Amino acid sequence: MRRAELVRRLESVPPPTHPRSDLEQVVTPAEPAAELLFTALAAGDLAGSVLDLGSGTGRLAIGAGLLGASPVAGVEVDPESVALARAAATDAGAVVEFATGDVGGWTRSADVVVMNPPFGAQRLHADRPFWDAAYRLAGRSVYAFALAESRTFIARRAVAANAHVLETRPVAWGLPRTFPHHTRRRVALSVDLWTIRTEGTE
Ligand code: SAH
Repeated sequence: MRRAELVRRLESVPPPTHPRSDLEQVVTPAEPAAELLFTALAAGDLAGSVLDLGSGTGRLAIGAGLLGASPVAGVEVDPESVALARAAATDAGAVVEFATGDVGGWTRSADVVVMNPPFGAQRLHADRPFWDAAYRLAGRSVYAFALAESRTFIARRAVAANAHVLETRPVAWGLPRTFPHHTRRRVALSVDLWTIRTEGTE
């Protein structure tokens, strides 16, 4: 599948109907989502199992399934988002198992973890349980988005987990107005795509 086609398909995966700001339910814009997925594909990382932590309405997980990963699972704390994700996967023709749950208690590992965790804008350190889960569960690689201002924390956390940061790549990220406290229609955020290798580092 070409990138433009993937972007188009991801755009049709809806955002949550009533996004909760305390959970930072912000849908991943289709362009950076496609960038993450094609980066993983090029590295041979969509050949096996994929786990999406905080899968929301499913863009990353559905995209991984469309690009050939199997099995693909998503775990998400908000049941309404899980329901939307299941419907979107069916519409897209992707096979993904979406579960309602907390990333902190998730035990089923995968070759590759993908995630767009809360950036910690509403609740400081909201991303920490995600990074803990990613290192606990990823057999080979982690692909994740984070605010540029979190670089030091993420790099340190990788060292502590005995993992190797392969790349920290700035991506274009336009955040559409999602919550009442967002006053502008769209803001550009400084976001990085992280590629981290966990295999062979234990
Ligand atoms: N991955 C989605 C949504 C990212 S927003 C997408 O690509 O569009 C982050 C998501 O993490 C939200 O849906 C939020 O509900 C979820 N979340 C926040 N804390 C969580 C936790 N502790 N366990 C599981 N999901 C969580």
